[in-house]
Amino acid sequence: MADSSGQGGGEVQSQWVRVRAKLRAEYGDAAYRSWLRNMSLQGIEEGRAKIGVPTRFLRDWVAAHYADRIRALWNAENNGVIAVDILVLGIAQQLATAVEPAAEPAGEAAIEASDDKDVSAPLDPRFTFENFVVGKPNELAHAAARRVAEAQSAPQRSVPFNPLFLYGGVGLGKTHLMHAIAWHIRTHAPKRKVIYLSAEKFMYQFIRALRFKDTMAFKEQFRSVDVLMIDDVQFISGKDTTQEEFFHTFNALVDQNRQIVISADKSPTDLEGMEERMRSRLGWGLVADIHPSTYELRLGILQAAAEHKKLQVPEKVLEFLAHRITSNIRELEGALTRIYAHTQLVGREVTLETAQEVLHDLLRANDRRVTIDEIQKRVAEHYNIRLADMHSARRARAVARPRQVAMYLCKQLTPRSLPEIGRKFGGRDHTTVMHAVRKIEELRISDRAMAEDIELLKRMIEN
Ligand code: ADP
Ligand code: MG
Repeated sequence: MADSSGQGGGEVQSQWVRVRAKLRAEYGDAAYRSWLRNMSLQGIEEGRAKIGVPTRFLRDWVAAHYADRIRALWNAENNGVIAVDILVLGIAQQLATAVEPAAEPAGEAAIEASDDKDVSAPLDPRFTFENFVVGKPNELAHAAARRVAEAQSAPQRSVPFNPLFLYGGVGLGKTHLMHAIAWHIRTHAPKRKVIYLSAEKFMYQFIRALRFKDTMAFKEQFRSVDVLMIDDVQFISGKDTTQEEFFHTFNALVDQNRQIVISADKSPTDLEGMEERMRSRLGWGLVADIHPSTYELRLGILQAAAEHKKLQVPEKVLEFLAHRITSNIRELEGALTRIYAHTQLVGREVTLETAQEVLHDLLRANDRRVTIDEIQKRVAEHYNIRLADMHSARRARAVARPRQVAMYLCKQLTPRSLPEIGRKFGGRDHTTVMHAVRKIEELRISDRAMAEDIELLKRMIEN
């Protein structure tokens, strides 16, 4: 590595590790995963930090959105660094030359489960029952989750309903409730073995076990648990072998009276691409849906969050936010955090005007809906194909795959039905759209480049 900063490579590397950790803390895990984790330090030359990324698209995005912040953070670490250059590297080149920090410091918020480390995902310490605001839209789901947690924590553990199936749209509190169950049990009955993981991780582990011919151990891991929670099972659909394994694991656990908790964005009967027997099996226990938030619930959540953060925010401002930011609760909390950061910075009180000013982009985004046309345009640009090819009958891979990606994103990001989407893609049949959605879901798991493309595009379109 070229390094003319007057310091050893080791020192520069640890600065890089710290800069990355701060970026992660500031921008959150999702942004970190999709944009920032792909960066690799190439060295420092004449006060310029050279950071490589795999694609041009990523370079432009990082340069436009994060480069200033990276420079400032780095400059605070080492005032010899005065500029940051973002460069495009081929993947191979990146692997060969990257100066990767040895171990990624875990986000401070993440606590690793002690003995279920290999399988269970970290739990967010904020996602407890205490921090969950109950209202009409979520009262059933909340009550059911509590029952499960308490039944597991009692000296005579019991299983009130199996499985507990929680479903609802994005950001309505499914993951929060699952973590809350895990925290509760961990606090009140630490001996119980609780595994929480995303369906994607479940699939990933299963595929890895297949590759290493170690499916026995994989099965054992899951079959010795008291509570198995799998988040976002809609992502399991389409993958036949994984579905099969999921089905067997599921049945084995239910037979042994172990608790299963599942979440999804749809009800069991609406899970597309899920085998019929699995869908019906998932609906055997208690199915609790979380409805879109109401104004009252949003206001309640804002009040609780403001209190928790000891923020002086006039009621009027909270009411305004509860009215205007309706898309999901994560954004609502994000809005409050931003207002908070702003007032810290300028040291003035929050007013309706400052709130509007600070949040103008967020407010606008809440007013606007993603359209199919927009998705087609973005995807065509990204893959460098003609917009007309979104509608054309051409089947060459170079256009067919991007077209499938666009269909997939339309299904994910708009409320349009499969037939409606098909019509917008040159009058294709809904089964074609369904096939595309499944195909891309599969590729997202097996092909890292595809997973990254999708993540990037999603963010581009949603921003
Ligand atoms: P989902 O898994 O359904 O997409 P999450 O559980 O990740 O949604 O929730 C998104 C964010 O909103 C989290 O920060 C969560 O703490 C918060 N949240 C959702 N519902 C509530 C609630 N009823 N009370 C407090 N916070 C909530
Ligand atoms: Mg979730």
